[in-house]
Amino acid sequence: MSDPVELLDPLAVSDPQPNPDCDVCGALFKQWQAAKEPKSPLHNPSRALDLAVEIRRHHGSVREARR
Ligand SMILES: [Zn+2]
Repeated sequence: MSDPVELLDPLAVSDPQPNPDCDVCGALFKQWQAAKEPKSPLHNPSRALDLAVEIRRHHGSVREARR
């Protein structure tokens, strides 16, 4: 960890890849789509970033702590 992570524009971050068989990912992905959509009443860029991270962490995270 050198530099602190800055808040990035969610549109500049690659789209998260939800697992199609996972309901949690699906729900997170819908929220992410709404949060990243500027015209959406739910538009919230920082929330979109959080959701994208959450989706990525939900499966196959390299650094996910296991107990
Ligand atoms: Zn999932």
